[in-house]
Amino acid sequence: MAIPEILRNNSLLGGLLDFFIPPLCLGCSCYYDGDDGICADCRDSIIYTKRPVCLQCRESLPGGKINCPVCGPDSLILLALGEYDSPLSDLIIQMKFKGIKRLANEFAVQVVKRLGPEIQCFKADCLVPIPLQVSRERKRGYNQAELFAAKLSELLEIPVNDSILVRKGRRSPQAKLELSRREANIKNVFEAVIDDEDCEDGLKLILVDDVVTSGATVREAAKCLKSAGHEVVAIISISHKV
Ligand SMILES: [Zn+2]
Ligand SMILES: [Zn+2]
Repeated sequence: MAIPEILRNNSLLGGLLDFFIPPLCLGCSCYYDGDDGICADCRDSIIYTKRPVCLQCRESLPGGKINCPVCGPDSLILLALGEYDSPLSDLIIQMKFKGIKRLANEFAVQVVKRLGPEIQCFKADCLVPIPLQVSRERKRGYNQAELFAAKLSELLEIPVNDSILVRKGRRSPQAKLELSRREANIKNVFEAVIDDEDCEDGLKLILVDDVVTSGATVREAAKCLKSAGHEVVAIISISHKV
């Protein structure tokens, strides 16, 4: 029996429900023993990314490096939990479209467990979640990248800055477009907010998103932040869709 997520989120009611009706794994819908939403089989089936990847040449980086040896200092380095394949892709869909927000926490825990030391090598000042289109966030009620970034921030002890980058206007969802059209669709969609009072010049930033595919969105965000004097040193995502 599927139990509405809102009931499971209530600690007292959720505990009673878990006792009488055990939760289903959010990846494969089997009954399992646990409360984090993912059964052991699904956890083992995720194709985890072991090393940071350069978004330009798609090569893995050697350990401890913060720039791609081939592409140099302008390379954008992606640290992703795993490849966009089942069951990770199914879990991300549950988080984004079915209101299962607690998965964002679990993804952050897994990213930090597997890539925490690599992330700390970048010595970032802030984490910046990629903003959603306002109308889309209003409809969904949350931005999954913000939820993911909030838990990452707690675990990595790097603050979130969710006011430095804003999204303007309405665009088609990137996922619905062919790869060749994504760059044009996302062009000039972001604006960097300059706050003189906070003296926030020259920050080293890590962008946070749920899925990175062509990299067009994060590249555009990085370009925008760079024009405001900041440096995007890396990107963290739950999944990399190759
Ligand atoms: Zn499962
Ligand atoms: Zn490269």
